[in-house]
Amino acid sequence: MTHVYESVLDAVGHTPLIRLNRIGEGIGAPVYLKAEFLNPGGSVKDRAARHMVLAAERDGTLRPGGVVVEGTSGNTGIGLAIVAAQRGYRTIVVVPDKTSADKLAVLRAYGAEVIVTPGGLPREDPGHVSQLARRIADETPGAWFANQYDNPANPQAHVDTTGPELWEQTAGRVTHYVAGIGTGGTVSGTGAYLKRVSDGRVRVIGVDPESSTYGGGDGSPYYVESIGHYLHPGTVEDLWPQSFHTDVLDAVERVGDRDAIETTRALARQEGLLVGASGGAAVAAALRVARGLGPGDLVVVVAPDSGRNYLSKYFDDGWLLRNGFLDGTGTRPVLGDLV
Ligand code: PMP
Repeated sequence: MTHVYESVLDAVGHTPLIRLNRIGEGIGAPVYLKAEFLNPGGSVKDRAARHMVLAAERDGTLRPGGVVVEGTSGNTGIGLAIVAAQRGYRTIVVVPDKTSADKLAVLRAYGAEVIVTPGGLPREDPGHVSQLARRIADETPGAWFANQYDNPANPQAHVDTTGPELWEQTAGRVTHYVAGIGTGGTVSGTGAYLKRVSDGRVRVIGVDPESSTYGGGDGSPYYVESIGHYLHPGTVEDLWPQSFHTDVLDAVERVGDRDAIETTRALARQEGLLVGASGGAAVAAALRVARGLGPGDLVVVVAPDSGRNYLSKYFDDGWLLRNGFLDGTGTRPVLGDLV
């Protein structure tokens, strides 16, 4: 028997690497897309979720019959809910009130309990998603707070799985690795592995929304979800996650919302690849990088999740028009627009 797994946990990872053909036509170096939307929970975060839960079991902070708690509006919650379902844990996920009904339904379908809290609060506020999740974990017997932003098992998941997969899939020919920066787990974990096995030869490029503070922006809001770091009004300190190891990166490419969204749509129409806008942003950056390279180079770019999560946004003409992406009136979003 081949490609047969003992449980859904073993089906996480081993994702295909797919060459971009039409969208990168005429560009010097080949660009390959790591199709993370093909994970069981539909995103790259299944990897971090599995690693974080297994590490917590090993160090005894999560015990049989325990409760997995996290603050997240998205893919990490789904990954944790899947792992918890399979391992017999209860899951409590704290999400901001703008989270779509579809996402809440997916979390509940896996048996997660969902607590909705107002979004847009500064990190210091006790009602802030992560702060509330931490408090619930403190007050719930048997609870363990996953804390993807500061949990070393998050980047380690990529040192142990994504990195080795890419090295093997490209037979060691990868020269440039491009990935968005959210918690930083994907870019710095995979990047650290690729640097190590290539004796520092592989260049690691993080991708950041234009106004995000990771790449030097002012922290004002942007539309692309799940990557970058913006500052809510009232935020005192610009604290970056411990999961983000900045020393691994050689460069940060800053990508505007329009470029990210246009590339996301082009991937669906020209390559048949339906990815989210963090993947579109990463591909926009990868194409930029590849333009300056030659046929001896090989660029790998990560597509973290599926465009199915965003059909009513980037793939909806009404949404594009309302937000100024079709008629050219496009303005910077205000926080209230980020639904
Ligand atoms: N894109 C999407 C859609 C995500 O859900 C995430 C995770 N928040 C990222 C990109 C960024 O990944 P990481 O947290 O590993 O930096």
